[in-house]
Parts: sequence; structure tokens; C-alpha cells
Amino acid sequence: MPLNNSSPANSVKSDPPAGRKPATFHGIGVSAGIVIGHALLIGRAYPEVTEGAIAPTAVAAEVTRYQDAITLSRHQLIELKQRVLEALGEKDAGIFDAHLMLLNDRAITSEVEQEIAAGHRNAEGVFHRVMERHMSALQGVENPYIRDRLVDIRDVTGRVLRNLRGDAPTDLTHLSDPRILIAPDLSPSETAAMDKVNVIGFVTAIGSQTSHTAIMARSMGIPAVVGARDALDQVNSGDLVILDGFRGLLIAHPDPDQLEDYQRRLKAQEVWFHNLEAEATLPAETLDGFRVQLAANIELAEDVDGIKRSYGVGVGLFRTEYLFLNHAVLPDEDCQFEAYRRAAEEIYPQSVIIRTLDIGGDKFLSHLNLPQELNPFLGVRAIRFCLSRPDIFLQQLRAILRASAHGKVRLLFPMVATMEELDQALVLLDRARRELDTRGLDYNHHLDIGIMIEVPAAVMIADRLAAKVDFFSIGTNDLIQYSLAADRSNPAINYLYQPTHPAIIRFLQQTSQAATQNGIWVSVCGEMASDPILAPLILGLGIQELSMNPRAIAQVKRLIRHMRMIEAEELVRQALQRDTAAEIRTLCEAFVHRVAPDLLGS
Ligand code: PEP
Ligand code: MG
Repeated sequence: MPLNNSSPANSVKSDPPAGRKPATFHGIGVSAGIVIGHALLIGRAYPEVTEGAIAPTAVAAEVTRYQDAITLSRHQLIELKQRVLEALGEKDAGIFDAHLMLLNDRAITSEVEQEIAAGHRNAEGVFHRVMERHMSALQGVENPYIRDRLVDIRDVTGRVLRNLRGDAPTDLTHLSDPRILIAPDLSPSETAAMDKVNVIGFVTAIGSQTSHTAIMARSMGIPAVVGARDALDQVNSGDLVILDGFRGLLIAHPDPDQLEDYQRRLKAQEVWFHNLEAEATLPAETLDGFRVQLAANIELAEDVDGIKRSYGVGVGLFRTEYLFLNHAVLPDEDCQFEAYRRAAEEIYPQSVIIRTLDIGGDKFLSHLNLPQELNPFLGVRAIRFCLSRPDIFLQQLRAILRASAHGKVRLLFPMVATMEELDQALVLLDRARRELDTRGLDYNHHLDIGIMIEVPAAVMIADRLAAKVDFFSIGTNDLIQYSLAADRSNPAINYLYQPTHPAIIRFLQQTSQAATQNGIWVSVCGEMASDPILAPLILGLGIQELSMNPRAIAQVKRLIRHMRMIEAEELVRQALQRDTAAEIRTLCEAFVHRVAPDLLGS
């Protein structure tokens, strides 16, 4: 039973509510593992309401309070519609038009306002009563269109009531008991801030393997399924559910046989993972004596704790944007310096590769009020954003340089597509050095500089780029998205996430050759590096380092310890003769089946 995450020890008694049949929802398993627990629906709860009297003098304020709640609801829906439109398209976003129409319904608004004023009643009570009246008029109607309208009215009513009550959106940072979240979407920043103990799994309607929310789930070791839209409408908070992150399933109201089966799988998962972890600190050396460099990807400075101790590796990718995401204001130079210094000191004598800010795409800084883009993944993202905001960029460069005096730090620029971008970044880096010189602050004058190779254009000029840097780090998540023109957060085109597409193998080969010819080293830090089935292929291409979600290290290490490099090189020769991603994947699976069959799953 291969897995890349730990298994929360959870045992839940069978309590399917009488009359509820088991229901299975299919999505994409993006973070392996099984959990059994109770669901918590986000973004759909319907609050309790009490109607009461208000003083005649309070009527005007109460009407304003009601109008403000409507305005806030309208803004929330417009924002939600935009997010769904970008991720799922017009059809799914259309549902919000129905909600917005209801909010804009003048007849309802004046009915509520009049009843507040005439009856001296509170806004929640009146609004709830008016909406219930509309709903009961539709209840019992067989027509499916009318039934859908009922769901819409209920959703909008719940939203306005929550806003009237000033309910904070469900606080995912603190849950009172263990829950499996079910949500339309979770942003990478929401995922990063989740209660790491009580959120034991999650299911969303949006996302795919390499969306940053999925990457975050894997690093946190939380089993997750994305793209399971139907679950959202058919599961309720409190329902008993089984989440199977291996197979991409959510089972609601499991019957006793299903529960027993999954309890057994859960036990097997724990034993398998425990055995694997015991090997985590053994050297990553092939049977024919090649030492492979393994490293961990981290999102937060504190993630570094225990990585060296548990796995004996350094950090191959520190995604610094997460430092910026959950803050009301931008972290200043000193605050960033502390985080980078902490990581550098903790991981020493191993090194940490600190990547400069990669926002844009699916990671936004709301407090910067950046203009909305039609295609954020093709927009002002990563190095493009940094070059457009030298103030923010220089601050980060100074902080990283300062941290370089406290350990083995390397610097990495994301999403470089042109030589000019690299040149401009290097000019700004020089300026940051001079600013520190003026302030008399110390830094490593021989800091290694690398770039991410994640845009096809960069692969094609890798031989030129290599002359100006010390290393390459291949970001396969973006390289695949940009090569196959397939948005990495859109579940509808998830089938185009093809790490073994012949074009990708050739891009990896070309990058590796450009690096070797220029005497620089190259790593892969995209999710591809954490798939033990693909590791032989990457290593056979001459790539020296694999940087991955720490929880995948033990599996990849086991694979490396059972293979020979000479056979991996032969695998590459065969792969380069194939036409399709599926054919190359089959070759890779056959390889792993031969050397470490247990990694292929039960
Ligand atoms: C990548 O694109 O492969 C990568 C590692 O960067 P990110 O996933 O943060 O875009
Ligand atoms: Mg990337």
C-alpha cells in the first residue's frame, strides 16, 4: 500500500443514519491515505434564527443593517462566481447568477423592509420568515427546475442570514473536533492555515494533482480528494464519511461492510507507513553505487523542523510566498530574514534553496489589491510580479542574502522565460548586495544562484541561461501545465497532466544536457519527483537531485536503494522511442514492478 502521507489514527463507530443509503462520490485522489470521520460542510451552512421585537427608534438602523447584509452577500457571490468561472467555466458559474437574481429581487427586498418597519421586528426574523414563505410555496412541486430553485433560495437565505449575524466564515484554523471538510474550493492560503489536528481530510469541487491546494495537502499529510462536485450537494455536516485519497473516493453513510473493509485498510496503511519510515534515514544509493541527492520541498519555515532529523536531507525548494499569504500586511525585511535564517540554521549542514516570491496563478495577495487577470497562470506571476515591484523584490533579496550568512543558502528565481528577466533579476540582486554593504550587514558573497526551468521557452534556451547561473531546478508542475496548455487547477482537463508525455521527457533531457555541458547541476522539484514510479526515469536522464514533499522521501528512497542506474539509463533509451504518455508510464511501472513491487500498491 504505497502512500505519501501519515495516517491520522482515527476510529469511528458505525452510525449510518436510518434510511440513508451509502453514496459514493468520485474525484481525483490528490493526497493519499484513508480517513473515516464526520463531514463538515463549508460555505453551505444554514443558521438558526430567532425573531424578536426592536424599538421603534431602531427601525431605520435595522433596515440599513439588512441592506448592508444584502450588499455584502452580493459582493461575496460575485467573487465566488469569478473563482468558479476561472476554474470550472461558465456552466458551473451560472448557478451564482440565479443567486444574484434573488438578491436583486426588489419585491423581496421591499417586503422585508416593510415588515421590519411596520412590525418593529428584527431583520433576521423577518427575512427568514419571508424566504420560508417563498420556499413553502414551491415545496411539494415535482418539477426538477422548481426543486433547483428551492435549493438556490435556501442557499441565498443562509448566506444573508450568516451575514446579518456577522458570522465569521467558518474558522478553519480551529475546529473543536476532527472533521473531514467538504468545500466548493479551498485556496492554498486557507489550506495552509487549517487546523492541522482536527482537519483530518478534505474534499473540494475544484483542483487537480498539482494545484497548490493539493500540494499543500500532501505536505500536511492530509488525505484529500478534489473535483468531487456532487459531494457538495449531497453530503451534510455531521454525516459519517470515508475519504479514500488513494482512489479519489468519498463514501457517505457507509454500510457496515464498507466500514469494516476500510478499517482493515487503515490498519494496513499504518503498518506499511511505519515500516517505510524506519528506512527513511538510510542512504539514497543505488545498487550500483550511485548516491542520489534527495531534498524536501517546504512551504513554511517551521516545516523545516524535523526534516533533517527524520530524513537526513536538506530543503530543495522553500516556497516563500506562503510567508506572505496569511498576513494582513506584507512581512518586512526583518520578519522575512528571521524565517529564512531559522530555516538555514535548522537544516545546516544541509542546504536550503530559497525561492523568491511566486505569487499570481492560484496564489493571491488580497491586501495588494492587484488587478484581476483573465488568465492568472499566464499573467503577472512569480518573477514577472517581482520585477514589476522592485520594492517588494529588493526587500526579499536582502532578507535572503542576510540569511545566507547563517547557513548554506541558495537562491532560486521562479518562472524565468527570457534572458532579460534573468538579467534584470541579477541586476536587482547586485543592488540588494550593495544596499547591505552600505548598512554593513554580512552575507555570503558566493551564494549559488539558480533558476526554475518551468516554461518551455526556458528549456529551449537552457544552454544560454546555464552560462549565467549555478543550478537549474525543474518545476515540472508548471512545465507540464505550460507545455500541454492545461491549467493545473482545472479538474476538467486533469487528464492532460501527463508527466510522461514524450515532450516532457525531451524537455527534461534537453535541460539536463544543457546543465551538464555548462558544468552546473540540475534538480527536479515538481511533484513528478515525488512519484517513485517516475524517479528512475528522471535519474536515468542524468538529473542529480529530486526535491519533494517530505512524506514521499521514504518511498522514493526505497526505490532508489533497489534499482541500478545503468538500468535507469536503459529505461530512458526505451522511453525516448515511445509515442505516448501511457506507453512511457507503462515502461516505468514495469521497471518498478521488477525492482520494488510493493511500491505499486495492493
Ligand atoms: C513547479 O512548478 O513544478 C514547482 C515546483 O513550483 P510550484 O508548484 O510552486 O509552481
Ligand atoms: Mg512552478
